[in-house]
Amino acid sequence: MKPYLRAEGIEAIEAQGTWIERENGELETPLVNGAECAYTTFKEDGTALCGIEAAYRDGATSFYKPISCHLYPVRIQEYTDFKAVNYHKWQICDDACTLGEELGVPVYKFLKEALVRKFGIAWYEELEEIAQNFSSKF
Ligand code: SF4
Repeated sequence: MKPYLRAEGIEAIEAQGTWIERENGELETPLVNGAECAYTTFKEDGTALCGIEAAYRDGATSFYKPISCHLYPVRIQEYTDFKAVNYHKWQICDDACTLGEELGVPVYKFLKEALVRKFGIAWYEELEEIAQNFSSKF
């Protein structure tokens, strides 16, 4: 895993642990100096990549990346009797939304792999059916 991370990231992980628990009990990845995730890497052009995902794609680990990262910009809110699946609006995703609109790829299709990982293929197929019925009415 280490070959896929930056020295600052490794340092942050060694100091804080592979994950941290917030006061509300939520688990998060450690940060480098309170900024980016310790697992972030950067290409020469400044594009950010996930080091865990890069390792996974190379077959160096069987862990893809945290499911909350995989699902973003969808957030799951757990309630007593159900889970709410909501889109989290954040202006840094505006360009991705514009491209998705141009290509005709809605968020749920872009996130198919992550949604199937979280909820299973039957759940996703039901979502697809509902989305198709919904869009045919407008
Ligand atoms: S996808 Fe998650 S684990 Fe990977 S760099 Fe981003 S925040 Fe960190």
